[in-house]
Amino acid sequence: MRGEICASNRVKWKAGVNDMDLQSWKKLARELKPCGDAIINGKAVAAKSGEVFDSLNPATGEVIAQVAACGDVDIDLSVRAARMAFDDGRWSGRSPAERKGVLSKLSQLIVAHRDELALLESLDMGKPIRDALAIDIPGAANAFAWHAEAIDKVYGEIAPTARSSLALVSREPVGVVGAVVPWNFPLLMACWKVAPALATGNSVILKPAEQSSLTAIRLAELALEAGLPEGVFNVTPGYGGVAGKALGLHDDVDCLTFTGSTAVGAMFLEYAARSNLKQVSLETGGKSPHIVFADCSDIERAAQAVAFGIFFNQGEVCNAGSRLLVEAGVKDRLMRGVLAHAAQLQPGDPLDVRTRMGAMVDDRHCDRVMEFIGAGLSEGARIVTGGQRATVAGRGSFIQPTVFDGVTPNMTIAREEIFGPVLSVMTFESEAEAVRLANDSRYGLAADVWTASLDRAHRMARALRSGLVWVNCYDVGDMSVPFGGVKQSGFGGRDRSLHAFDQYTQLKTTWIRINDKAQA
Ligand code: NAD
Repeated sequence: MRGEICASNRVKWKAGVNDMDLQSWKKLARELKPCGDAIINGKAVAAKSGEVFDSLNPATGEVIAQVAACGDVDIDLSVRAARMAFDDGRWSGRSPAERKGVLSKLSQLIVAHRDELALLESLDMGKPIRDALAIDIPGAANAFAWHAEAIDKVYGEIAPTARSSLALVSREPVGVVGAVVPWNFPLLMACWKVAPALATGNSVILKPAEQSSLTAIRLAELALEAGLPEGVFNVTPGYGGVAGKALGLHDDVDCLTFTGSTAVGAMFLEYAARSNLKQVSLETGGKSPHIVFADCSDIERAAQAVAFGIFFNQGEVCNAGSRLLVEAGVKDRLMRGVLAHAAQLQPGDPLDVRTRMGAMVDDRHCDRVMEFIGAGLSEGARIVTGGQRATVAGRGSFIQPTVFDGVTPNMTIAREEIFGPVLSVMTFESEAEAVRLANDSRYGLAADVWTASLDRAHRMARALRSGLVWVNCYDVGDMSVPFGGVKQSGFGGRDRSLHAFDQYTQLKTTWIRINDKAQA
C-alpha cells in the first residue's frame, strides 16, 4: 500500500522452518508479494518519474517484482529527508543507549522475519536458500545486534594538555550517509554499513544494486516497525549510473560508503572530488590467493576449503579464493580432493535446501563469466572440470564449478576478478615464489595459507599484502574483526568491528581555557 509501509497484506511468516521442502518454499514464493517501492521519509513511494524496472529471478527468468527506478529527484528528496531528520535531532540527538534499544529491536525483527528475508534474497539473486537462512540473514541481524550493543561503550578522550586547559576529543556523527551496495550478499553488505552508520547517530540513504533491491526495501520497513523515526533511514533503488551517481554527486551527502567493483569504487572518489569532498570509503574487488604448502597437515580439509572458497555463493564473493597456489609436491593429492568436492557442488534449484550452488545473478553476468572461461581456454589454460553453462529444469543462468589447470601468472584468468565459480590453479616450488605469486595482483583483499609450520604461518602472514589472512581455515571471522582490503581492494575504512564506527564519525576537538588559580 503506497504512502504507508507496504507490509500489511503479507503472508504471515514463521521463523525456524528451514527444514521445509522444495514444494513448500515454492508455495511461499508464490504467496510472496514483494514491495518494490522506494522508502523515503518513512513512506513507500514510487519514483517521481513513475519509472520501474523488473526484478527477475535468475533461476527461472520470472519477474518477481517491479522496482522503483529512482532518479535525481528521488535522491534529492531522500537527502532532504535525511538532512532534516539529522538536523532536528530525532535520531542524532538520542542517547547511545536509546539508539541501542531501537537497533536491537530491528535485529530481533530480522530474526523473526528470517524465512521471508531469506526467500526474497534467494529469489532476487539466485543464492541457495540454505545459505541465505544460515549465513546472510543471521549475519544481517548480528550486524545490528553487535553495533547496537557496542555503541554505548565507546568513550571520547581528554588530551594530556597543560593544567590551564581542558581539551576534549569527541566523536560526532558525520551527518547524511549514502550507502551503495552490491548484489552478492545484498542484505548482509547493506547491514554491515547501515548498522554502524545508524548506531553512531547518522541518517542514511541506501542504494541497493538493481539486481537485488527487495531485502533492502523490506529492511527499511522493519526499521520503521522497530521505532526508527521517519526520514532517518531511506532506501532508493535504481540504476547505478543514475541513482548511485546522483547520491555520489550530491552536495548535501556528507559520507559515501560503497561496496562493489573497483572500477565503480573509483568513480565515487571522482564524484566526491567533483562535488563537496564528501568522505568516501570503498570495499572493492579481489583476486585472493589460496596457498597450500606440502607440509599442510590436513590436505583433505584444505581441499574442502579450496572448493568452498571458490564455489560458495557461485563464486560471487569478493574474497573468493580464485587463485589456487599449490606447492608442486602436493598438487596431485590436493587436486583429487578439490575435484571430488566440485563434483558434489553442481548447480541446483536455489529453493531446494539440499542445493549448494545456485544461479548466477543474471544473464549478463553469466555471459561475462563465460567470456572469462573462453579467455582462459584461448590463452592456453586447460579445463579439468566444468566450463559449461547449465540450466535447472530447463531454465535459468547457471555455471558449472570450473577448474583451470596450467594457468600462468599473466593470463587473464590469473589477473582479473571473474566473480564466478572459476578456479585458476598455479604451482610453486618455494615459499619465496609463493609470496611473489600471491602478491602479484592489483588486489589485496584476502589470502589463505595452509601449513603445519608456525614459523611459516607467521612469515607468510607478514609477507602477504592483503587486508585479511587466514591460516589453516578459510573465510572465517566475526563482527568483532574488521573486513576489508589493501591496494585496489579497499580505500578509506573498514566494515565490521569497532573500526567501522570510524567511517561514520568525525573527530571534534573542544579546547577550554581554565583559570587554575583559585580566586581569593
Ligand atoms: P558494481 O560495482 O557493478 O555495483 C555496485 C553498486 O554500485 C551497485 O549498487 C550499482 O548499482 C552501483 N553502481 C554501478 N555503476 C555505478 C555508477 N556509474 N555510479 C554510481 N553507482 C554505480 O558491483 P557489483 O557487480 O554489484 O558487485 C560485484 C563487485 O563487488 C565485485 O567486484 C566484488 O568483489 C565487490 N564486492 C566487494 C566486497 C568487499 O567487501 N570488498 C564485498 C562484496 C562485493
